[in-house]
Amino acid sequence: MKFSGKVALITGASSGIGAATAELFAKEGASLALVGRNVENLKKTGEDCKKVNPSAEILLITADVTKDVERIVKETLEKYGKIHILVNNAGILAYGGILESDLDEFDTILNTNLRSVYHLTKLVAPHLIETQGNIVNVSSVAGLRSFTGAITYGISKAGLDQLTKCCSLDLASKKVRVNSVNPGVVVTDIHKRGGMTEEDYVAYLERSKGTHAMGRVGHVSEVASTIAFLASDDASFITGALVPVDGGKSVMCPR
Ligand code: NDP
Repeated sequence: MKFSGKVALITGASSGIGAATAELFAKEGASLALVGRNVENLKKTGEDCKKVNPSAEILLITADVTKDVERIVKETLEKYGKIHILVNNAGILAYGGILESDLDEFDTILNTNLRSVYHLTKLVAPHLIETQGNIVNVSSVAGLRSFTGAITYGISKAGLDQLTKCCSLDLASKKVRVNSVNPGVVVTDIHKRGGMTEEDYVAYLERSKGTHAMGRVGHVSEVASTIAFLASDDASFITGALVPVDGGKSVMCPR
């Protein structure tokens, strides 16, 4: 088991990529602190983790990453006493360009996708130094490339990529690795939560086949397995890497 004896703190574990990552980490023997706001969904992730590994230790922390970062770290340390892996996955999406978006949206998206990661990383870093642990941030192809109609999201993920790179340099000498995954379109609830209608979502997924070189969108398990790789000793010489998990989307150019 890759993560036997390791404690992993995963945000946004109540849905999508975070839930799939929690399940995979449980299967690989990690003790988990799982963070989300939706109690029922978080419980469901905990149950799914137990199904794949009945002896997995699981702490559910119902919390908002924009408000409760101190409590998240405190509860994790109270239960486990240490942290080896931090997966900063919680995130939200909003649609609109510079003309449609506003400062409230900017603040909400940046607080959730970037400020909370900075804050959590700051508080967890000393504990990762103790365990020589690592961080995996869940960014997006939108951090690497620019798209119309999601300006605040793109800014937040580009900022997150810079956070990953700067932290990797700051923490390398302390033997803490920091990397990110940058997914392309992956089937989860995030687009509909961001305001896309069901009808538009179906059309978007169909259209997205053409915007990914591999001719399809991604599955949460494909992102989870890359997060697990980066968080494991298999990636012991990888730090500061932004790893596209995007079926080739980030290398495509219009012709
Ligand atoms: P989901 O909407 O399925 O899951 C988002 C998760 O983030 C939920 O568990 C949600 O918890 C949590 N979350 C959001 N805001 C907060 C908050 N303030 N406090 C605590 N938890 C919060 O989306 P995905 O799984 O798709 O997204 C996960 C990450 O992947 C995000 O960072 C996203 O930007 C990134 N990503 C996703 C892509 C995709 O196509 N799906 C593509 C590229 C990147 P709750 O519901 O309990 O509030």
